Amino acid sequence: MEISIQKAGSLKDLPDESELAFGTLFTDHMFNMDYDLDNGWHNPRIEPYGPITIDPSTMVLHYGQSIFEGLKAFKTPEGEIQLFRPEQNFTRFNQSAHRMCIPAFDEEFALRALKELLKIEKRWVPSAPGTSLYIRPTIIAMDPFLGVRASYTYRFFIILSPVGAYYKEGFNPVKIWVTEKYVRAVPGGVGEVKTAGNYAASLYAGEEAHHKGYTQVLWLDGVERKYVEEVGSMNIFFVIDDEIITPALSGSILSGITRDSVIEMAEKWGHPVTQRRISIDEVVEAHKAGKLQECFGSGTAAVISPVGQIKYKDKTLAIGDGKVGSWARKFFDAITDIQYGRTQDTEGWVHKVD
Ligand SMILES: *Cc1c(COP(=O)(O)O)cnc(C)c1O
Repeated sequence: MEISIQKAGSLKDLPDESELAFGTLFTDHMFNMDYDLDNGWHNPRIEPYGPITIDPSTMVLHYGQSIFEGLKAFKTPEGEIQLFRPEQNFTRFNQSAHRMCIPAFDEEFALRALKELLKIEKRWVPSAPGTSLYIRPTIIAMDPFLGVRASYTYRFFIILSPVGAYYKEGFNPVKIWVTEKYVRAVPGGVGEVKTAGNYAASLYAGEEAHHKGYTQVLWLDGVERKYVEEVGSMNIFFVIDDEIITPALSGSILSGITRDSVIEMAEKWGHPVTQRRISIDEVVEAHKAGKLQECFGSGTAAVISPVGQIKYKDKTLAIGDGKVGSWARKFFDAITDIQYGRTQDTEGWVHKVD
C-alpha cells in the first residue's frame, strides 16, 4: 500500500526540552488509516495532526472497542533516531485487536508507516538526557450505531508526543498501596490486552491510593485477592533472597515488553528471573525475615520504577532504606543504554529510522 503524504501548512514551534512533561504536546503530523468491510485496511496517509470529527453515536464512545500501544523513539549521541523493539508492540497490538474483535492489520506495513511518520517528524525527537518521543498507535471502532456488536468500520492512527525525563527529581523509590477491594482484571477478561476500558476501570483505586499518599496501586489477582499481578500499569518484580521473581503471565497480566527485556537481560547475565505466582503473604513473610531486597515496576514510560514502600492492610513494608536497589539500577542502565544507543545493541532490539 502506498502511503499518501500531506504536509502541514505551518509547523509548530518546538518546546523547551527542559520543560517537557508527559503526553501534553503533539507533533505536526499523524498517521491515519481506515477499515471497512469492502476495502479492508485502506487509505493509509500522513497528514497534519488534528481533531477527528465523529458522530455522537460512534461505537467507540459507547462500548469502548478501542486498543492502543505505547513505545518511544530515542535520539542517539550521533543524532540518529531509533526505536526499541517496535515489532513487539505491533505484534501485541494485533493480539489486542484479536481479543477486541478488531480486524488484524499488516504489522510490517504499520512499522513502515511509523518510520515514515518519524522521518517527517525527526525534529521533534528531543535530545536532552532522559527525553524521548512517545508514540501512541490507537485503533477505534467507528460505526455510528447504538447496539452491542463489533463495529464494521475502524480508524487506525498514530500520534507522537515529545516527553520529558521520567525521573526529573532523580531515580527515587515510590510508595505503593495494595488494594484489597478493587481488581484490575480477571482470568477470561481483557486484562492481558491494551484496551481502553482497563484504564478506566483502574482509576478509582488509583485515586484512593493518591488520596492516601501513595503513587501507585499494587493489584492482586481478581479471584483469590492473594497473588500479586501488577503495579499501576506496570509489571512488577521482586528480589527475595537473591531470587528475581515476577508473576507468571496468568491471563490477567499484560505481557510487557520492558518485562520481557528485563527477563532476557537477567538470563544473559546468568541470573534468570523466576516467573511464578507470588502471593502478597510471601512478600510480607520475606520482609519479616529480612529477605525482601527489592521491588520495582517495569514499563515503557518509566522503564524501571523502584518501589521503596508497600502498604498492605495495617503493615508498612519498607524496602531498601529508601535507596534504589542494585538490580533495579542495573536493569534501568542496561535497557536505557541500548535505547539511547550509548552501548552496542547485542540483542537486535534497536530499529534505526533513517
Ligand atoms: C503497557 C502496560 C504494561 C507495560 O508494558 P510495556 O510494553 O513494558 O510498556 C504493563 N501493564 C499494563 C497494564 C500495561 O498497560
